[in-house]
Amino acid sequence: MDEHFRISIVWFRRDLRLHDNPSLWNAVQESNDVIPIYIRDNPNSPPFTISPGKRQLIEKCLWALDQQLDACGTRLVILSGEPTDLFTMIKNILPFEAIYYQEQVEPNEIALETRVSSWARDNGVRMIPSDGLTVHRMREVFKPSGAPYTVFSPYYRAWSGLHISQPLPSPHNISSPVNLAKIMENDIPTPINASVNEAGEMAALNTMDVFFEKKLEKYPSHRDHPGIEGTSRLSAFLNLGAVSPRVVAWRCLKEQNSAMGGAISPAAVFLRQIAWRDFYYSILRHFPHVLSSDFKERRNTIPWENDQTLIEAWRRGETGYPIVDAGMRQLLQEGWMHNRVRMITASFLTKSLFTDWRVGEKHFMNHLTDGDIACNNGGWQWAASTGTDAQPWFRIFNPTLQGEKFDADGTYVKRYLPELNNIPSSLIHKPWVIPHDDQMKYGVILGRTFPLPIVDLTLQRARYLNMMRPSEK
Ligand SMILES: Cc1cc2nc3c(=O)[nH]c(=O)nc-3n(C[C@H](O)[C@H](O)[C@H](O)COP(=O)(O)OP(=O)(O)OC[C@H]3O[C@@H](n4cnc5c(N)ncnc54)[C@H](O)[C@@H]3O)c2cc1C
Repeated sequence: MDEHFRISIVWFRRDLRLHDNPSLWNAVQESNDVIPIYIRDNPNSPPFTISPGKRQLIEKCLWALDQQLDACGTRLVILSGEPTDLFTMIKNILPFEAIYYQEQVEPNEIALETRVSSWARDNGVRMIPSDGLTVHRMREVFKPSGAPYTVFSPYYRAWSGLHISQPLPSPHNISSPVNLAKIMENDIPTPINASVNEAGEMAALNTMDVFFEKKLEKYPSHRDHPGIEGTSRLSAFLNLGAVSPRVVAWRCLKEQNSAMGGAISPAAVFLRQIAWRDFYYSILRHFPHVLSSDFKERRNTIPWENDQTLIEAWRRGETGYPIVDAGMRQLLQEGWMHNRVRMITASFLTKSLFTDWRVGEKHFMNHLTDGDIACNNGGWQWAASTGTDAQPWFRIFNPTLQGEKFDADGTYVKRYLPELNNIPSSLIHKPWVIPHDDQMKYGVILGRTFPLPIVDLTLQRARYLNMMRPSEK
């Protein structure tokens, strides 16, 4: 770019990092002075509330980002309110000429970008969008016809064939206007127990290093077993952009190159999951109707029952099916749930309790620290068989069989349901078969200390298949 600006704004959004941040990097190269800002609580009608865990993580990331910017010679200006009003206020004090920002995919964020762009046009300010939300730019992964992909496998083939460009370094010196303090509101409160190395991008990069050094090799065999800490735990950091998806993908390539030939390498298995994230972002960007209705529009006619008593039992983790209840309690306790268990609990809510997937989608967003509008929607529509590469409609997860297969010794279930601690592994996923006398022996009274199953799965299965058949014709 030939332009050079006296003062530019870097508008941090879901890119709370210095490394591989195209908006920050380009602004620093192309401007004399940079104003790093973050706008919180803008009246921008987000479709979901932010969970308490996610709110806390955002605060930690902002604090860490400010500390790192401080080390580069500037500060993070955090403001609240309508972005166009805030930009007007800043421009009156520090006449900036450009806004660098990362493009988003959610409809409400796109509407905000349009609003700010129109303000910028009226005020002689250049809007400079950049990528960085996904590994590959969205417009790079299209069908030869120019249409977006709607099925993962061909998307992934095209995605894998693209060159992953080298991540950008972090800037070391960032010059800001001397009177930056004039636009700062309050100091950013230090989060409890925060140290820069354990918050924000340093925490994210450490988590990534630990994964690649200690867990990657076994990822293909461990990733489906919720009792094992076998996955990266990067989701919340990726969601806020504390780690760049391109850096994660780049690291995978490095590992792949050093791997021996033969079977698909662990790094390739992991990279495929990162591609799912890119895929769901592309789906949301090009098919925003997924946020309110089924991706497969013919499915919009499913007569969901939405029984409030059953929904409440599911939310609380009191369905009587141990793997479902353990998952739902993990969500409430930790703001995270293992992927395999997300699939099981989502299938259970939709196909065994006949509940609209949007009910589950909202509950997850209310509690997940990694709540991600695109991935969550994709996951729910997959489980409900209404989405892109959805489960075949007739495939219904049986929580008992899933538990026996993926949590054979009950490690996971017992971690979140300590009331089942003394039940032998062979019975842990079907406690309702334990005779009354043995229940005393195992320290559990069914119906009192642990619920009896809230529905009969065989019956529900038959009802579900009957209900769905007409929409398949
Ligand atoms: C019903 C349901 C809801 C979900 N909601 C979310 C959500 O709100 N936020 C979210 O980040 N993921 C969501 N997922 C996807 C997946 O469960 C999480 O990304 C994963 O459990 C996060 O743990 P991890 O980082 O240790 O995963 P890893 O196995 O280490 O995967 C690495 C990264 O790849 C991406 N990824 C992995 N699996 C998927 C997937 N199936 N779809 C899209 N991206 C994936 C994530 O960014 C993840 O961090 C959902 C899945 C289902 C079935």
